[in-house]
Amino acid sequence: MRTFSKSSKLNNVCYDIRGPVLDEADRMEAQGVKIVKLNIGNPAPFSFNAPDNIISAMTDNLRNAQGYSTSKGIAAAREAIINYHRGKGLSIESINDIYTGNGVSELIVMVMQGLLDNGDEVLVPSPDYPLWTAAITLAGGNAVHYVCDEQAEWYPDIADMEKKVTPKTKAVVIINPNNPTGAVYPKEVLEDIVKLARKHELIIFADEIYDRLLMDGVEHTSIASLAPDLFCVTFNGLSKSHMAAGFRAGWMVLSGDKSRAKGYIEGLNMLSSMRLCSNVQAQYIIPEALKGSGAPEKELLPGGRIYEQRECICSMLNDIDGISAVKPKAAFYIFPKIDAKRFNITNDEQFVLDFLKEKKILLVHGGGFHWENPDHFRIVYLPERKDLEFAMGELRNFLKDYRQN
Ligand code: PLP
Repeated sequence: MRTFSKSSKLNNVCYDIRGPVLDEADRMEAQGVKIVKLNIGNPAPFSFNAPDNIISAMTDNLRNAQGYSTSKGIAAAREAIINYHRGKGLSIESINDIYTGNGVSELIVMVMQGLLDNGDEVLVPSPDYPLWTAAITLAGGNAVHYVCDEQAEWYPDIADMEKKVTPKTKAVVIINPNNPTGAVYPKEVLEDIVKLARKHELIIFADEIYDRLLMDGVEHTSIASLAPDLFCVTFNGLSKSHMAAGFRAGWMVLSGDKSRAKGYIEGLNMLSSMRLCSNVQAQYIIPEALKGSGAPEKELLPGGRIYEQRECICSMLNDIDGISAVKPKAAFYIFPKIDAKRFNITNDEQFVLDFLKEKKILLVHGGGFHWENPDHFRIVYLPERKDLEFAMGELRNFLKDYRQN
């Protein structure tokens, strides 16, 4: 009998953030076990709601959203997007350089499909948001990981980046603010990355989906604003800042010197047309969302949920013997280090699986973010403070006598 397996292109794609540990959690849940989920950056299940004006902008426009839009999206959305990014210093020619997408995710896959031939290389951070690596691999390219340095607030290690450039390198990806570390890169670090991109004539792909989720008064600089002479693609969307991940409202912006990328842009236009358009009803919320700063300010200040949950998780983690964590400045992720020697951990996925089975708490292992050593894991601190306190208490208990064989 004829059988079907996944394509050979998918064989090398690794997307462990939704891998075997999650399968085990699903199995446990199906048996009625209640799992505390610290694994996924989806605000809605943790009682974060999209603001009322966003819901109204969508429901009020449902009748207007029945037909396809143009492949890049409705003009009102793209005008709001161009104004937002020009306000952040990007040099953008016209709304033709704005593409709406079904979330940033769809556009990440699109830009790599459009760019890469077999064996082309793209520099990607380690740790990364793993869709970037998966999309590059799926497109036939090789993701070459540069290290972000925990000792230096998780900023990219420029010397390591430089070492990893080869004649096949076409682009560099930066995720700023960062998932999974919560780092926000200062201007000087971004300027060094721009210098490197300029020297080696690389495209800059900047994933800035968390740029409205900043804490402690830090400021966000868009790397493309520092590189008007280079070709840059900047990604953003409403999944996180507007707690509306299910609406799938994302976009990308082409800026800088487009004369270098005429053929590539033709390809992007073709790919964008092939999927006809992104969700039209979600496009209608973009102008409303980008009025004002667009940030959920209350949540990010002392007394707000995201701020207080960060304070709680950070201090509880650092109080556990054998765990240390750099305080995140943005988003809602933390990437703690675990003393692998002390707990004899040689397999970080096994560690999170053991913790899940014993304590019914779901984390993601560092390897899921292309972190090489088995000594990190990610926590999403969206759950309420009482759940975080419970989970950290359980982690402390678990580690008291955990030793991996
Ligand atoms: N980029 C980063 C860094 C993310 O963390 C995520 C989602 O977690 C995405 C992109 C995808 O977002 P979207 O919901 O817009 O597809």
